Amino acid sequence: MSARAPLWTMVLEPGTGKAIELRAGHILRIEQLEGGQCVDFNCFNLHDYKEYMHTGRTRTLYGLHPGKGHFMWSAPPRERPMVYILDDTVQCNDVLFPRCSAYLYESAYGLPVHTNCHDIQSEAQREYGLTPDDVHDSFNLFMHTGIGPDAQPYIARQNSQPGDHVDLLALIDVLAVPNVCGADIMRTSNFSIKPVRLSVFEATAAERAAVPPVAKLPTQRTPTDFKVKRIKADRELRRDPAYVAEFTNVPIRYSELAVSLDAEEYAMLKALARNELYGDDDGAALRDIVFSWWEERFLGKP
Ligand SMILES: [Zn+2]
Repeated sequence: MSARAPLWTMVLEPGTGKAIELRAGHILRIEQLEGGQCVDFNCFNLHDYKEYMHTGRTRTLYGLHPGKGHFMWSAPPRERPMVYILDDTVQCNDVLFPRCSAYLYESAYGLPVHTNCHDIQSEAQREYGLTPDDVHDSFNLFMHTGIGPDAQPYIARQNSQPGDHVDLLALIDVLAVPNVCGADIMRTSNFSIKPVRLSVFEATAAERAAVPPVAKLPTQRTPTDFKVKRIKADRELRRDPAYVAEFTNVPIRYSELAVSLDAEEYAMLKALARNELYGDDDGAALRDIVFSWWEERFLGKP
């Protein structure tokens, strides 16, 4: 889509970020100018800031390094795709590390004055009335990370080049907030901070059609389903004296379902059952088959 004229473009300078109203069907391209620059990314539902991108669900579905062909999901109880990663020329992103912060640089490096993602995100989204507490965990574009044999996360040098880019297709209207990560004393951006280019394009029908369908389910809840619909506006937490617990699905009810199997089917099932893990607990040994299927189907594990 390189020949297409952008609807809007700007260069994002080190130390800064930008809150962008990205409409459904528009693509935000985040592009390397010099290469080697990490860009932290957050997004909110433009019409309801309490719905925001959730690195936890995104990470669980796609692993630590989501990329082309993956969705950015919103947090429970909304849990729906907000953004589709339409293109990614590096395939080197991170959803393991949190955003860097002023405290990180002061506590780890003795630098109380240092550009950092949290403060940049806070300032960029202030344009829309959000507070520093509204910043949430970021999707870290072009950040090269992993988990070492000691189970500790690590950051490695990245190798994005000028022109490398990630294209994010908005599936709902979002406030998209990319920022130039301030980590010039870590491997995150190869020990320097550089500008990147932001561009917004209108998606073609073919690009919109490339998004895999995701079923809408009743458990993807919205504020109309909430018992408390009003957003709390003060800071102190006070007990509601009229509160009576109404937990969803309580009392829990179990139902037994009879499944008839012929001898051959039963033999197949017994062969798959994981009694080596569960001993004579046949129920758990059989449920493990279903869990393994779920892992394979939804987590991509073999
Ligand atoms: Zn950062």
